[in-house]
Parts: sequence; structure tokens; C-alpha cells
Amino acid sequence: MGTSDPDVVVVGAGAAGIGAATTLAGHGLGCVVLEAGDRVGGRAFTDTEALGAPFDRGASWLHEAAANPLTPLARRLGFTLRDEGRRRRRDILLLGGRPATEAEHAAHAAACDAWEAAAEARAGAGLDMPLAAAVPQAGPWDATVAHWFGAIINGAEADRTSLLDYVATALGGQNLQVAEGLGTLVARLAEGLPVMLRTPVSRIRWDGLGITVEGPRGVLRARGCIVTASTGVLAAGGIRFDPALPAPVQAAIGGLPLGLLSKVALRAAGADRLGLPAFARLARQVEGAADRPMSWMLWPFGRGHAIGFIGGEAAWALAREGPAAAEAYARAELARYFGPEAVSLAFAPGAVVTRWAEDPLFLGAYSHAQPGQAGARAVLAEAALAGGRLRFAGEACHTRYAGTVGGAWDSGAQAARALAATLG
Ligand SMILES: Cc1cc2nc3c(=O)[nH]c(=O)nc-3n(C[C@H](O)[C@H](O)[C@H](O)COP(=O)(O)OP(=O)(O)OC[C@H]3O[C@@H](n4cnc5c(N)ncnc54)[C@H](O)[C@@H]3O)c2cc1C
Repeated sequence: MGTSDPDVVVVGAGAAGIGAATTLAGHGLGCVVLEAGDRVGGRAFTDTEALGAPFDRGASWLHEAAANPLTPLARRLGFTLRDEGRRRRRDILLLGGRPATEAEHAAHAAACDAWEAAAEARAGAGLDMPLAAAVPQAGPWDATVAHWFGAIINGAEADRTSLLDYVATALGGQNLQVAEGLGTLVARLAEGLPVMLRTPVSRIRWDGLGITVEGPRGVLRARGCIVTASTGVLAAGGIRFDPALPAPVQAAIGGLPLGLLSKVALRAAGADRLGLPAFARLARQVEGAADRPMSWMLWPFGRGHAIGFIGGEAAWALAREGPAAAEAYARAELARYFGPEAVSLAFAPGAVVTRWAEDPLFLGAYSHAQPGQAGARAVLAEAALAGGRLRFAGEACHTRYAGTVGGAWDSGAQAARALAATLG
């Protein structure tokens, strides 16, 4: 690999890998981070070229900002953080082709609260079941609320999500957006770390006391190893383990599949901003069983682009159909608010469509636990193979802040501390 054998090999240079490497350095352990891709950051990636302004293709919000380990780091490095209120009056909520009235906004907000309260109450009994079985179904806003919290926020529909895991990992605190891009922040935090790009790991041998990490660029032996590839990659056999992983660990990986959230960004054609302010949000009521609305954020930071979000099964279907289908879907969605003519005048041709599902280094957006698999995150986080020298980290391993950059970072730091204790 062109490097001497380190104490620890970290596989993957996303937030978890960077958090792990930073913590290992703090414990005086030498490490090398092997990253298959040609950049650091993983699912936190700010594209500064496609739209002529920072565009987070993956993560963009610092969720639960008060508890998020990246919030103080961002402030110390001088990043510009913008507070996003929870539900705001200037959001447009569309139903039946017209904006909702004040009373309808209030009914929608009440349905959101009732949905979350029902999930929490049922989870209190400690019985795992599909989230969909625990929440209201019959109200006029319930399908819309389920679509928002399930397919969009969670990246997976409520009927395939564990109730207990959903409640345990629900996010409710302050959300901050990073003007320079959350991916820019994560990349900045990787500066100075021993990362080797374009260095995929294809096999990890953990039969003896040491660990051997192999890939097309060579072999490294190490005293310890932290694997941070997504559960999508691990479940697909993207890394071969020799001997095979113990059945409970393999089952935990399988119980934490990745959901999907895709973004479709359209660029403004000129100065027309459709009469809407920076950060305006659009959402609409679900109309019937097959309806899968996109949610929108317009003109973030006053920039000349709009970002549509589509999640769950509809996002997987669009990923299979390709970017042209996703663009057509996005334009048709916007036309519901403004009419097709205004959309074609306001937006330039073309779209930037994220492709997390298709990328073999990710194979989805972020993990959810399947019904009955509420304990899987703890199993994976606590797996201590090869006498504690081989560990897993990443967003899927966090029992509280799963699915987030802060959770991934913290999980990497936790694995590094555990490994440091083992290695002495
Ligand atoms: C569209 C989208 C929106 C999101 N929005 C938010 C948000 O607003 N806020 C938030 O907090 N989170 C958000 N997330 C989730 C967040 O991005 C992830 O939870 C987090 O970045 C995961 O970090 P990680 O280190 O666990 O995994 P990753 O970022 O996936 O890092 C793993 C790394 O391992 C590498 N790798 C894979 N296989 C190999 C191999 N064989 N050899 C070597 N390297 C390998 C990958 O290339 C990758 O760089 C979003 C995600 C997506 C996709």
C-alpha cells in the first residue's frame, strides 16, 4: 500500500472514519484511513461546481445541534451556521391544487404532533412492531404525515421501519445549516489525517491476533481495525471477512438496511424567484394511495437553485429509471404549485440528481432498523471481534443519533476509544 504497517487501519473516510482517526491520534495511536473513493467525507459531500454554489449532495443539516459533536468544531473553524426553525409560517402547504388555509396548516401541525405522540406512547410498552402499526391512519393528514416522517425523513416507509428504533433515534432538537456546506466542514476536519484515497479494501482477515487488510493496492497488517463502510455495502458483501462474521453480527447488518433520500436540484434561469423568499419550503398533501409528493427547499442562502427531496420506494424507483426520469418528476411536482409555464420560465434546463443508491460505495442514504430489529444497532456497535481488535462504526451503529453525520462521528470516536483501551 506504499505505507508501513500502522497500529490501526480505519476503513472509510466518511464522518465515522474521520472521527475515529481524530480520536486515535488523541490516544497516541498511529493509524491509516483507507478510502475507496477519490475524496473524503463519504455521505457528507459538498459539490461546489454543479450549481455554481455549495450544494450538499448528501447531508446538509447539523441535527440536534446542541448535542452534535460537529457544532462546536464548526463554530471554532469559523463556519457560518443558520438556525432553521421547526415549522414555519411561510412554508407553502398545497392541497387539492391550492395553498392550505391557516386552519388547515394548524390541522396538519396537530396531525404531526399526534403521529409522533402515538409512536412514543406505543413504544413505551417496549414491544417492537412496524412503525405504521403504531400511528394514526384514518385522519385527513395521516398519509401526508406518514410520508413526511417515513419516506422523506427516514428514507423508508413506516411499514418497514421498527417502531422502537424509530422512536429511540428520532430527531427533535435544533437543526443548523452550514453555508459553506456540511461536506466542506467534514472535509476540513479530515485535513492532516493520514487518508489514502482510491484505496478500496476487499478483504479483512482476523483469524490470528493481528488483522490483515487487503485490497488491489496491497496488504497492511495492523493491531486493530475499525470498519465504517455503510451497512448497505457490508450487506452486499463489498468487504469479505475471513473468517466470516459471526451470525449475530451478520444479522444486525441485515437488519439495518439503507433507506433512500434523493435530491433533485434545478437552477434558476434568471432573476425570477417565483415570488418566494430564501429557504422557502414547499410540501403538499398526499392525494391517494399511489401519490408520492416531493418536498422542496427554494433558494437556500438566497442562491439561485431549488432542491427537491424524494424518499423511500419512489426514490428507489427513480434511481432505477435514471436522472432524466427524476428531473421530469421534479418539474411535474413544481408545476403543481406554479403551473408548467412558470416552471419552464423560472428554471434552466437540466438538473443535478444525486445517485447514492447507484454508487457501490454507499448503496443508499442512511439506515433504518427493520421491524423486530430494534437491538441491531447496539449489536453492531458492541461487536468486538478478534479479541476487541476489529470493530464497526458509522451512522448505523449509533443507538441515539443514527442516520446523522454527528452520530457517525461519535460512533467512530467511541470505536476508537474502545480500541485504544483494548490495545493499551
Ligand atoms: C441525501 C442525504 C441527505 C442526508 N441528510 C443528512 C442531514 O441533513 N444531516 C445529517 O446529519 N445526516 C444526513 N444524512 C446522513 C449522513 O450523510 C450519514 O449518516 C453520514 O454521513 C454517514 O457517515 P459514515 O461515516 O457512517 O458513512 P459514509 O459517509 O458512507 O462513509 C463510509 C466511507 O467508506 C467508504 N468505503 C465504502 N466501501 C469501502 C471499501 N471497500 N474500502 C474502503 N472504503 C470504502 C465510502 O466511500 C465512504 O467514504 C444524509 C444522507 C444522504 C445520502
